[in-house]
Parts: sequence; structure tokens; C-alpha cells
Amino acid sequence: MQITHLLAGLALAASASAIPFDAAPGESPVDYLKRAVSPGVVITHCAKPGVLALAFDDGPYQYTRQLVDTLNAAGAKGTFFMTGTLYGCIYNYADSVKYAFNAGHQIASHTWTHPSNFGSLDECALTKEIRRVEQAFVNIIGKKPTYMRPPYLATGGVVLPTMAKLGYKVITDDVDSEDWNGKTPEYSEAKFIAAGATNTTLGHIPLMHEPIQTTVQVLVPWLINWAQQNNLQLVTVAECLNDADGMYQSGLAIPNGVSTCSK
Ligand SMILES: [Zn+2]
Repeated sequence: MQITHLLAGLALAASASAIPFDAAPGESPVDYLKRAVSPGVVITHCAKPGVLALAFDDGPYQYTRQLVDTLNAAGAKGTFFMTGTLYGCIYNYADSVKYAFNAGHQIASHTWTHPSNFGSLDECALTKEIRRVEQAFVNIIGKKPTYMRPPYLATGGVVLPTMAKLGYKVITDDVDSEDWNGKTPEYSEAKFIAAGATNTTLGHIPLMHEPIQTTVQVLVPWLINWAQQNNLQLVTVAECLNDADGMYQSGLAIPNGVSTCSK
């Protein structure tokens, strides 16, 4: 489809409200299209103002349920980029994964083993990292995610073309809490304040880690309060990209009976 046709279609759809056309104030349709969600394209922040997409890597782990309870109590939705084996086998935390999913939080991929050389893996190895945790999600929640965050935010090598081929939307971040770097919640809070909470800039997708106790117990409650004070809605990454219906792949998701990480 030619871009002019696409633009005409978009304008038509916007006038008919068939699909949401929510360009930022002053944004041209071309810029709007450029940041539309596509597999294999790095996305760093939300597509609209007035939202904050709390996103947590490296679970499931022992704080997953507590984190879900905290989010639920605030009427907030979060996004969980989960691995297969980083902090123990995902199947051993199957109840926690289901608990988050059933509460309406977004379940997304953070690869099977969280390899330290993710950005230099070949297509075959990358595909295995994605497919194995994808099958675990099918076995546990009956869904294949469409969103992933690369370990160490590594998007080099053949990561992006491979994710495009596998149909995965690639999320990094625009605010790094640095909780992974041993920084205190107060340090992270200062970074959020510096990044800003105005209702006129596009929402943040921060980098945080749910296995870090102070992130779950100190930083997240602070963020919930900060969002409320600034009238920011706490939504999933997909929702902040106007893609709430695109969190999971359509089509068949067939469990294969595996319930252990050793097979
Ligand atoms: Zn990670």
C-alpha cells in the first residue's frame, strides 16, 4: 500500500472513529505512522500522553504475587517481561504467572534463559530462546505473547530482524530506574521526577526488575502515588501503545504437556 493511500485511509478511519487516531498534539500523520507498533522495531516510550506503563523484567519470582496485589489495589495495570529460567524455573511459579495474567496484567517475553550474549546470538539460537518460553506461556496461561524485551536491552546483531520474523514487538525503555545497578529507590525516584510526569508528553516505559525487593516494596508504591498526583493512568505497555488487543498472538496456542524446565 502506498503511503498516501495509507494516510487517506487513516484520516478516513479517524473521522469515522473506526480505529483510534490519537496523534500527539501537533504530530503529523507521517510521524504518527512512524511510531505505530510493528514487530522488530524498537519501541522506547508510549504512543500517547497521560499514561505510565510500569514494566517489570526478570520474573517470575517470589515477589510476583505481592507486586500484582499492589498494582491491583491501586487499579493499576503492569507489564511483566518474564524469563523461563533466570530466577528459577517458570513452571515452579506457574500460579504466580496465572495470578498476574488473570488480573489483567500483560504477560510478555524476556527470553527463556536471559543469555548475556543475546545481541550476538544467531537466528537459530534467538528463535529457540523465544519459542521455548513462548511454549511455557502457552502451557501456563494458554497465550503466546507478542511483546518482548531483550535481555540487557540488546537489540544488535540479528535480534531485530529475527524478532520481526517471529512477530515480536520489541520494547526497551525511556527511563532506567537502575534498580539492577544497585541504586536505591530514592535514586530511581529522582530519575522519574527528572523524566517528568506532564500530561502533554508521551508516557514513559521504565526499566525495572521485579526480583528486587525494594523495587516491589518501595519504588512501585511511590510510583503509584506519583502517577496519581500527576493524573497519569497506569496501563500495560500494549495499552499505552494503543495496542491493547494486540498483547497476544491470535491463532492456535496448543499446550505440549511440559511442566518442567529440564525437558
Ligand atoms: Zn532482564
